[in-house]
Amino acid sequence: MSYSIDLSGRVALVTGASSGLGAQAARTLARAGAAVVLAARRTEKLKDLRAQIESEGGDAHITAMDVTDVASIRAAVARAETEVGSLDILVNNAGVAATQRLQDVAEDDFDRLFDTNVRGAFFTAQEVAKRMLARAKGAAPGTYTGGRIINIASMAGLKVLPQIGVYAMSKATVVHMTRAMALEWGRFGINVNAICPGYIDTEINHHHWSTEQGQKLVQMMPRKRVGRPEDLDALIVMLASNETHFVNGAVIAADDGFAL
Ligand code: NAD
Repeated sequence: MSYSIDLSGRVALVTGASSGLGAQAARTLARAGAAVVLAARRTEKLKDLRAQIESEGGDAHITAMDVTDVASIRAAVARAETEVGSLDILVNNAGVAATQRLQDVAEDDFDRLFDTNVRGAFFTAQEVAKRMLARAKGAAPGTYTGGRIINIASMAGLKVLPQIGVYAMSKATVVHMTRAMALEWGRFGINVNAICPGYIDTEINHHHWSTEQGQKLVQMMPRKRVGRPEDLDALIVMLASNETHFVNGAVIAADDGFAL
C-alpha cells in the first residue's frame, strides 16, 4: 500500500524561484504534477531551471517579477494566469536577509528587508488571493477546488537571534500575516499556512558555513547540521495539496528543533 499526493491539473506560482528554496519548491511541485510558473527579477536565471523541469517531463513557465514593485507583482500574476491558467497554489518565497547589529541598521537596510519580506509578500499574496476569491465566489456551491498559499517565513520569526534582528522582525510579521490571511480567506476555501525553515544551505547564507562564526552556529544547533533545500519537499507538497484542506493558519517549524 502507498500514499501519494498528485497535483496534476494545478497551477503553482513560486516567487524567488531563481535559487535556493524557491527553485527547489518549483522542482518539487512540478514533480508532483503541478504546472509551475517561475517568478524572479532576472528571467535569464530561470531558463536553466525551466529546462531542468522540462527535461524531467514537468511543465514550467517563466515570468519576471520584482516583489518590491506592486505593479510588477500584478503584471506577473496576470501574465501567469493568461499564459498558464488560474493559480491554485502560491509559494510566497522571495526574501532577503541581512546580518547587522541593531545599532548599525540604517533606514535603507530596514526598508530593504521590510519592502521585500513583508510588503512584497503581502501584496503578492493579496494579488493571488483576489483572483482566488473571485473564482471562489463565482463558483457553484461546493465546486471551488481551493487555493493554497504557502508563506515562507523563518525560524527567526519564532525566535530572535543575535545580529539578524530586523530580519527576525520581518519574518515574525510574515507569521502573523499568515494567520490574518488564513482567518479572512479560509472561509472562501483559501488555505494560508507558513513554513518556518531553520538554517538551510542556500545562496542566502552559503558563504557563512565555512566561516568561524558559521561553524560556531552549527555547533549551537540541536543536531549540529544545516538543512538542505530538499528537506522541505514533503511539507511543500503537503501544504499545496487539497488533502490538507483542514490545515489553515498553521505555522510549521522545519528547523530540526532549533527554535525549541
Ligand atoms: P536565496 O537568496 O537563494 O533565495 C531568495 C530568492 O528571493 C532569490 O531567488 C532572490 O532573487 C529572490 N528575491 C529577492 N528579492 C526579490 C525581489 N524583490 N523580487 C523577486 N525576487 C526576489 O535564499 P533562500 O534561502 O532560498 O531564501 C528563500 C526564502 O526562504 C526567503 O524568504 C528566506 O528568508 C527564507 N528562509 C531561508 C532560510 C535559509 O536558511 N536558507 C531559512 C529560513 C527562511
